[in-house]
Amino acid sequence: MKYFSTRGSAERVSAAEAIIRGLAPDGGLYVPDSFPEFALEDIAALVPLDYRARAARVMAPYLDEFGADEVEALCAAAYGANFDAPEIAPVRFTDENTGYLELWHGPTSAFKDMALQMLPRLLTASLKKRAVEKGVCILVATSGDTGKAALEGFADVPGTRIMVFYPRDGVSDVQRLQMVTQSGGNVGVCAVEGNFDDAQTGVKRIFSDAALAEELAARGWFLSSANSINWGRLLPQIAYYFSAYCDAVSVGIVKLGEKLNFCVPTGNFGNILAGWMAKRMGLPAGRFICASNANNVLTDFINTGVYDRRREFRLTTSPSMDILVSSNLERLLYYLTGSSESVAHWMRSLAETGVYDVGGETVRRLQGEFSAGCCDDAEAAEEIERVWSGFGCLIDTHTAVASRVLGEYRRVSGDATPAIVVSTASPYKFCDSVLAALGEDASAPGFELLGRLEAVTGTSAPAPLASLAGREPRFTACVAPEAMRRAVEDFVG
Ligand SMILES: *Cc1c(COP(=O)(O)O)cnc(C)c1O
Repeated sequence: MKYFSTRGSAERVSAAEAIIRGLAPDGGLYVPDSFPEFALEDIAALVPLDYRARAARVMAPYLDEFGADEVEALCAAAYGANFDAPEIAPVRFTDENTGYLELWHGPTSAFKDMALQMLPRLLTASLKKRAVEKGVCILVATSGDTGKAALEGFADVPGTRIMVFYPRDGVSDVQRLQMVTQSGGNVGVCAVEGNFDDAQTGVKRIFSDAALAEELAARGWFLSSANSINWGRLLPQIAYYFSAYCDAVSVGIVKLGEKLNFCVPTGNFGNILAGWMAKRMGLPAGRFICASNANNVLTDFINTGVYDRRREFRLTTSPSMDILVSSNLERLLYYLTGSSESVAHWMRSLAETGVYDVGGETVRRLQGEFSAGCCDDAEAAEEIERVWSGFGCLIDTHTAVASRVLGEYRRVSGDATPAIVVSTASPYKFCDSVLAALGEDASAPGFELLGRLEAVTGTSAPAPLASLAGREPRFTACVAPEAMRRAVEDFVG
């Protein structure tokens, strides 16, 4: 299987090359030139397997240069004792129609681990296959969870360095403490004055800086990305949609072949896009419901076909979804239109004017498979309380947005198809908001509230979060967006 850029360069590259590069040279994103087909009997064969084996079967056809045995070994290493649930990605069913796919049992307590425990292994193996001798410096812009998951995945991986930029005022206390206390000799963490879009735009600018690339190459380094623009981030995420479907079949929520909807709390559109790709491969998924917080640019886009980022950026209690420029939408638009000219045109328009309109035909196709909804912080808080008091299931603020939007979708559309809410973070990452939602006192820094949330709910905090309190920060720098380039130069040294 080969990969090419959404913006139409004629060049076709291998999976290893796409993973090494991250972003295509023309600024586009790599997409596979076909989708491996899974017939119903192939999916039936996944049902009795464990998560590792399911993931290996789903991923292997995308990685021709890797043998099936090699992919199995990578999956076994990525999804093991580093997760605190033996099922890796368990589905918790709350009624005969609804389940929560818990993707936060990895080392950093957010769903980013599903991809970022895998990406460093894929990348290291890819570098070996291509006999690349330079070291790779990973740059990450994070809205909170990617940064920590990438640090944890790449810490002390030979031949790599990793630098993470986070928006100074845009992450939770626990998220910041997780990052600035990261151990490892090859890691760097830096705050940026501004919001996530400022950090992400800054990183994209550094990637397209030819002079900097040359300078780093002279010192033996090249830059790559661990954001979900990298194909190696997206691919591992396809697997858990298959796995959740298998679990729904196992418990009898659907019979093999029947449709299952997915409601996904969305920011950069990576998670939900991976689900849509699973559907293209033959998974009997029904509709994908795209859930947003008050930064509801995607809700408007799916409902109207107009993507308009010219609006106020809101800080919410679900900070990992505080995003106005959803990078991965570009991949979906490519598949919906098959036209790299259109995609390049829209992306140019977004960069230059802040808006684009995909027009009637494309929006009809989009609405054929996606629905969208949003809710504000108060509604998400009500949902945390409702799901806790109704089902004894404790969810975080991001998951709550999706859960609420699913309820609203069902009420308005009358669509009673069984559905999975994709649960993306441990509630313990957002203790203050979760405690407040339950009507409890939340007036202390987030990491001091872990014990209070444990006492109130009788659940326990993930061990890596519980050990955060009292740890000394290693990284305190904060720079303006214009100074990010300099920070990278200094870091690579
Ligand atoms: C990153 C993140 C999201 C958004 O996922 P995308 O793939 O960017 O759409 C949602 N919830 C949590 C907890 C996250 O960390």
